Amino acid sequence: MPEAAKIEVHIDKSSEIQDMQSHQEDDDIAKTSSELDRILSNGRDFSPISYEENNFECHESFFENFHAGYKRESDHRIFVNRSLHLENIKFYGFDMDYTLAEYNSPQYEQLGFDLMKKRLVDLGYPEEIMLFEYDPAFPIRGLWFDSHFGNLLKVDAYGNILVCVHGFEFLKHSKIYELYPNKFLQLDESRVYVLNTLFNLPETYMYACLVDFFTNSPRYQRDKTGVKCGELFMSFKSIYQDVRNAVDWVHIHGELKSKTVENLEFYVKKDPRLLLVLDRIRQSGAKVFLLTNSDYKFTNKIMTYLFDYPHGPRAEDAHRDWKSYFNIIVVDAKKPLFFGEGTILRQVDTATGALKVGTYLGSLQEGQVYSGGSCDVFTALIGAKGKDVLYVGDHIFGDILKSKKIRGWRTFLIIPELGQELHVWTDEYKLFHELQQLDIKLGELYKNLDSSAKEKPDISNVRTNIQKVTHTMDLSYGMLGSLFRSGSRQTFFSSQVVRYADLYAATFLNLEYYPFSYMFRAPAMLLPHESTVAHAHEQRLTDQQEPKFSRMRSIVTTKNEHFEHSESLVHTRPTTPTTITHCHDEDMAEDEDSDKKSERSDETN
Ligand SMILES: [Mg+2]
Repeated sequence: MPEAAKIEVHIDKSSEIQDMQSHQEDDDIAKTSSELDRILSNGRDFSPISYEENNFECHESFFENFHAGYKRESDHRIFVNRSLHLENIKFYGFDMDYTLAEYNSPQYEQLGFDLMKKRLVDLGYPEEIMLFEYDPAFPIRGLWFDSHFGNLLKVDAYGNILVCVHGFEFLKHSKIYELYPNKFLQLDESRVYVLNTLFNLPETYMYACLVDFFTNSPRYQRDKTGVKCGELFMSFKSIYQDVRNAVDWVHIHGELKSKTVENLEFYVKKDPRLLLVLDRIRQSGAKVFLLTNSDYKFTNKIMTYLFDYPHGPRAEDAHRDWKSYFNIIVVDAKKPLFFGEGTILRQVDTATGALKVGTYLGSLQEGQVYSGGSCDVFTALIGAKGKDVLYVGDHIFGDILKSKKIRGWRTFLIIPELGQELHVWTDEYKLFHELQQLDIKLGELYKNLDSSAKEKPDISNVRTNIQKVTHTMDLSYGMLGSLFRSGSRQTFFSSQVVRYADLYAATFLNLEYYPFSYMFRAPAMLLPHESTVAHAHEQRLTDQQEPKFSRMRSIVTTKNEHFEHSESLVHTRPTTPTTITHCHDEDMAEDEDSDKKSERSDETN
């Protein structure tokens, strides 16, 4: 066997991501969230993809050898989509809201929801909506709101509908087909709003409440795209616009910030490990920066609270001001604009919170606070290349997608829901096992039957049970199931995480459990023919199954004497590599030292 055949080829998520990203080369800088939505569609043809065509994701083997070897406790782990060597990271950047400062759920969502209700009543909505109660069991992130039909949709990566809910009513298949041909909806910014952030949770629930209220109230008549009340037509689109305006108002002019600041203990999680982790990053030789969209006054209040301990990083250390934990602090960043054209960079007067007049042109000073700016100016001033930076944030568009695609920053997505998702995953193992047993049973029913079979095994029982178990599994996450999957199919949110986040975890505090020399390695993403076919030591192909298409060399090479001693540079065929010639995993390639070592070894060979 030629040596080349022994070199392993890793089919992992990095190759999948590369393929996906190659479709997006012409991406421009996004200015609005709707434009971001459009960009997310990548100009791809969102033609419906059937389950059979797209089911490679769901065949990933949950029970194979991925669990082998030393692993940290699941609550402490950081998960890997693309391999990343922590040693190569020179700058650790942090977002603040929902990243360094995690808001307590559900009370923070409840606050946002209650303020929205008030605002909507002020806008003329009926007083009865003040009776709505925020229910954390209902909304999940990543849903699409279809403002045409007023439906909340849980979709897969391509826009195929997995769950459709109108108000609080979950629509049956037939009804979904009636509204959406092929159970598919294109990500169209004029109609679809993607509810991607944790700040969107109260809003998601508000759409459900309002649609439920108006479609069930005897005062209103149902219509396909809204409700009628006498001469008045209220479209779902107008409800969507009113809710959007109410959300923006609550965040910008409303009491959300002041109420939060008034009762920080109730709304914001506090953990002394924050001090330790940030200090350890700096001790490791890397630099730490804060890059937040919040203004200085709010940032200062939240950060002062988060760092308000009588001690420093360790119990025996003296207390330090929060700003001393960062090399550089940028507020009012206006991400994702920051990653593109940006805004004017100004200095903040920390005594008054006011911005100093004029564009700041000097070098960035430690202990100073800056406002706005752009990634271009920022990275030039700190002297960072894209791959030197690991940016930690919770916003898949503003923090992760843009920093990765425009700037090539390495990305670490914070998904606070992951804690609960992992608990269901581990606690409900019986259900996952049951589903696996049902799959085995289904295989058994068709065993020894081929195309000559006249009998038709009765699979109805197994099918019903698969549906039941899948439903129970979904409900154990919440009314709209898991953030990442619906049954065995992955959600749009999942696909965004895989595509743009190199690392992800429930909290950045999990950095505490890894050394700064750590090599994060992505697990293999298996396709159905890999996850369901055992390796050769467990199963041998029969002679009849020998591959019809072979890439092995079968023709014996005869030396061409004519050219034997000539100085011709014609390569009649490639040389079989005898040493490692290139990286098979993109993320190893960034390790320049290993490239140099490999070159040296080539020279000595
Ligand atoms: Mg954030």
